[in-house]
Amino acid sequence: MLGHTKKEKERIAADSRKIDDELKYSFFILLLAVIHLFFSVFYYFFNLLPLIIYNIASCIFYLALYKLLLKQKKYFQIMNIILVEVAFFASSSTLLLGWDFGYMIYFLSLVPIVFYLLFTNPRFYGNLKLPLLYSVFICIIFILVKTVSFHTVPPYKDFFPDGVISFMYLFNSLLVFLFEAFFSLLFVFEILHMQSALKAQNIRLDTLASLDPLTKLFNRRSMEQHLNHTMEAARTAGTVFSVIIADIDDFKKINDTYGHDFGDKVLSNVSNILKSQMRDEDYVCRWGGEEFLLLIHANKEIAKTVGERIRSEIEKSIVTDSDNSVSVTMTFGVMGYIPGYSIDKLISLADENLYKGKQNGKNQVVA
Ligand code: GH3
Ligand code: MG
Ligand code: MG
Repeated sequence: MLGHTKKEKERIAADSRKIDDELKYSFFILLLAVIHLFFSVFYYFFNLLPLIIYNIASCIFYLALYKLLLKQKKYFQIMNIILVEVAFFASSSTLLLGWDFGYMIYFLSLVPIVFYLLFTNPRFYGNLKLPLLYSVFICIIFILVKTVSFHTVPPYKDFFPDGVISFMYLFNSLLVFLFEAFFSLLFVFEILHMQSALKAQNIRLDTLASLDPLTKLFNRRSMEQHLNHTMEAARTAGTVFSVIIADIDDFKKINDTYGHDFGDKVLSNVSNILKSQMRDEDYVCRWGGEEFLLLIHANKEIAKTVGERIRSEIEKSIVTDSDNSVSVTMTFGVMGYIPGYSIDKLISLADENLYKGKQNGKNQVVA
């Protein structure tokens, strides 16, 4: 991840988020509208006209905000508007009704919600300063409201019997618990999804890094891993295997006569034949320019027949483009596993066989 640019990071963050922003914000906004509607009904029973009007206005305000969300999708701005409204609502309700109503508990739930909303906004992904700054503001307002309410008498407190105040405290606490649990679940859910998206991305990158871009065969690096595993199995479990080095005959001439692009086409064609002729448990890689290494899980005799089969298929095939039609041949050097020999030693012995084949007229398998 370190090498990624900011734009790429934003893209990965956006790709890996599963919960749709519109859905998330719509739910949040409509929930707040319902809560305000509930409060307006609640204050209706106590004849508190200013609070009824304020909560109905807030409910209408959230419905308007919902429409704006659907139209504009400016999530950061919408988050700020919600924060200001919740802060104003909680502070003013506390100052008007008293601390005991529990409106300030809403403040406490704002901290994780802000962290969550900013973390899942690609613009601020990985930015910790901003949610911390919001947290400091939330804390300052909390302390300020507490201090002011300590020194003032709330004008509407006497409208309510003690039982109702306790009920409101419990109701508000419960709502805050629900908020926190809900947003924590969303947070965990999104992190889990991000992790699995990253895992899938890693697998894709790993596959990409193990392939040769032109031929889509394994590259030398990944073949070395397969060779080491196979060698280990041969040493510990006594399994047999063989290696074959295969080299296109007179490839330089093909490049010189038909051009490098046609040469590439020949390489792709040869690679497709190699792939199609190999069994699932065997491996073939592009070892270098026009050289291929085959790892066959069988003894030298069987490997030789595999080589012969591939040689004949390649000899029969024709590579064409709009101007040319060419057939190529390949020479194969085979070597079977010998206990105690290193991989490098086996490959160099296969290489010697290949050399013998080249000396001996090419287009043949030497074991
Ligand atoms: P021999 O039969 O002895 O193997 O002769 P050769 O011409 O095949 O062997 P040589 O090693 O002389 O030439 C190999 C050529 O393969 C030279 C190089 O430019 C070409 N080559 C290597 N990689 C690529 C590639 O990716 N694309 C193309 N078009 N040519 C490549
Ligand atoms: Mg060659
Ligand atoms: Mg060569």
